[in-house]
Formats: sequence, C-alpha cells, structure tokens
Amino acid sequence: MALHGQAVLETPSLPANGSGQPDKPFVGRSRRRRRRRERPADSAPASPSATRPFGNLTISDPVARALEEIGYVSPTPIQEAVIPLVRKGQDVVGQAQTGTGKTAAFGIPLMEALAPDVGTVQALVLVPTRELAVQVRGELARLGKFRGVKSVAVYGGQAISRQLEAFQRGVHIIIATPGRLIDHIERGTVQLGRLRFVVLDEADQMLDIGFADDINRILRHSPSSRQTLLFSATMPSPIRRLAHRYMKDPVWILVGGDAEPVEQVAQFYFEVAERDRYAALEELLSEPDRMTQALVFRRTKTGVDRLVTYLKRRGHDVQAIHGDVTQAQRDAVMGRFRARRLRVLVATNLAARGLDIPAVSHVVNYDMPDNVEEYIHRIGRTARMGRPGTAITFVSEWDFEMLEAIKAHVGDDLKGERLALYRSRA
Ligand code: AMP
Repeated sequence: MALHGQAVLETPSLPANGSGQPDKPFVGRSRRRRRRRERPADSAPASPSATRPFGNLTISDPVARALEEIGYVSPTPIQEAVIPLVRKGQDVVGQAQTGTGKTAAFGIPLMEALAPDVGTVQALVLVPTRELAVQVRGELARLGKFRGVKSVAVYGGQAISRQLEAFQRGVHIIIATPGRLIDHIERGTVQLGRLRFVVLDEADQMLDIGFADDINRILRHSPSSRQTLLFSATMPSPIRRLAHRYMKDPVWILVGGDAEPVEQVAQFYFEVAERDRYAALEELLSEPDRMTQALVFRRTKTGVDRLVTYLKRRGHDVQAIHGDVTQAQRDAVMGRFRARRLRVLVATNLAARGLDIPAVSHVVNYDMPDNVEEYIHRIGRTARMGRPGTAITFVSEWDFEMLEAIKAHVGDDLKGERLALYRSRA
C-alpha cells in the first residue's frame, strides 16, 4: 500500500484512464472552445443563470450566496486573475503561496462549472498533506453549499472504508493526497474516467515529499480532455517540466513576486547559543500581548516532542504536530489552534506545510530552515490576508552560513536583535 509521505511505485500497468472505464469526457476541448467563443472573458458561466457582482467579477448566484455567507466581499488578486481564465477553459499555472486565496481561485469556477446532477467524479484536487486535504475540502464544501456539489477528502491514515462509503454515496470532487489516490486506483475503487478538472495544489511540496511518480501516473491516466490547474509557491525546474508535459498552453500567473515574503512580515533574527534556546523561546513567550499565537518550527519529531514537554512543564499552552501524531490528535490540535484556543503550536516542517492558520501572529524558526525557499515558505505562515505578522529566527553557532544565504535573498528586511537574556549578561 502506498501511504502518504512515501515515494512510491513504478509500474504503469493501469488501463488507459486509470479506472478501467472508457474515457467519456463530457466537457472536452470542443465544448471548451465553444464556450470560449460564446462568452466574453469575464462573464459568469451560462448556468446557473442569475449572477451577482464580486468586485470586478460576476459570480453565478448559488456560489455568490456562498461567498456572502462565508464573508468574502471582493476577490483577492489571484482570484481576479485565475477565475476568468478557468472559465475560458484555459490551463493555468499560479505561483502563489498559501494565504493568497488560491483555494477559492480554483474553487469558485469549479463550483460554477460542475454538474451536481451528474453522479460522476468531475474534479480531482491533489494536495501534499492530509491537513491540506481537510482544509481544501472544508473551503470547497462552503463554496459549493448552495450548488449541491459534493466533495470528499481522501488521504492516508484515514480508514479506507470511510472513503469507500463516500464514493458510493456519490461525489463530484475528490481532494486527495497522491499516495492514497493511487491505492484507490489500484483497487479499482475510484473512477476517474470522467474527470473534467485536475488541480495540483502546492505542487512544489508534493514533489518535495516524493509524490512525483504518483502525480505523473495520475496525470497520465486521467482524460486528456481535462483542464489542468497547477498552484505552487515556488517554481523549481521539476514543476516547470511537469507543467510543460501535462498542461495545454498554460497561462502563467504570478502573485506576490518570485517567492518573495509577504511584505507585512516583520523579520527578526536573534543570535542564540544552542544551549540557550529554551530560555530564549520562554523570553519571547513571556510577552503575551505581543506573541498572541505562535507557530514554532523544529527540524525533527523528537526535537518537537522535547520542546513541547519542556514548555508544558513550565506551564505554557502548547501542543505538538508531526508525522507520528495520530490523525485524530492532529485534527483536534489544529481545531484548537484555528479557534485560537491554543497559543503555541510546535511543528516539523513537513507537518506544517500547507496549513492555513490565518491568525498566527508569530512564526518562530527555532531550528534554522534548511534552505532559503523553506525560510520563505515558513514565514509565509504569518501576515496572511493583509494582517501584520512577525517571523523570528534563532541563529545558533552553526547557522551563520544559512543566515547569510537568507540575508542575501531578503536583504535588509531581516534585522538582527538582541535577547534580554544576553543583554543582562553583558
Ligand atoms: P488560501 O490561500 O486558499 O489558503 O486562503 C487563505 C485565506 O484567505 C483563507 O482563510 C480564506 O478563507 C481566505 N480568503 C480566500 N478568499 C478570500 C476573499 N476573497 N476575501 C477574504 N478572504 C479570503
């Protein structure tokens, strides 16, 4: 069985569409071309008929009602750019970090385009982690509430039987981690022959985790008439190759610069000796007004556990999230953190990827990230959707090379400060 997190499989022995069914795309290129001729660039889709304005866009009524209920009043830049393109039938590559509103950028046109009365899987969203699967599913469920579009999140670590029940009830959208989807394809428990849309979300993270073979396999075996959308915070060459290989003349959209940190993030670093890092973090946590909610990154699972045990013993409101934490615990912890009933979340890189935590005031790089892109990605967890945020990095005696590399990239935005811990000793 291919579990989430593993690089898997070689044998491309699936039937032509990976489902054992003949391909029967019902929105192929020809239909898309027709739609392109019939409608101006930014018109809402032909059905359902009534529309409402959403900033510069017009949105079909049931989806507009959902937007109103969620509380979105105008589109974010990526939504403004992507929604008209998807409606025109274009393949789109969007370079954007989590926090830019990219889920609704594909979710809104998907909800408008899918046919709720047709009982087949019409859209597939591939995501790197179970957390992101659950999160994207939540957003799509909210957006599709008045359209009757049904979706399910499919990921390793959850009982297959629950996923099978959902398939049997009938779903229009599957949001899946690639490993678990391959399991279903191999078991013949999922039919993808009628897919109209494939979305690759956080594509760079999926490749980092080792899902490249699975993604290639899924794309090769989904109908060639599909529309493909790819979102990624960074665009390393494997992602570009993937886009060239599997997408049709994609339009490239860049939001927020080439992997640049969001401008509102205040970035500081503190030089902290390895042995003083517990005390340094406690010093920061002792300012509850400033540090309302913190996401703390550690490199290893044991590092996370040790830090959490220490902080708990000292009376802090803190929980851990990493690959060995059970799904039920992760869900509970994330639920508390999102509801702001948990102040400090200590996570490994991998577990934190793609998490949407809009309110986090501070990101703390307790362990230095391994590369500049990781730094950018981590600090993107704060200052979301225009809110201010602070990223703090501990630089120990071994970390100066990486600090220089980060400084070379972000320049003067990253400022050195001194902890009281050392000021009192001086
Ligand atoms: P995402 O980049 O999809 O993870 O979205 C980041 C956050 O932005 C989520 O909390 C969304 O609920 C929120 N969001 C998405 N679109 C909008 C919008 N048009 N207006 C306000 N908030 C939004």
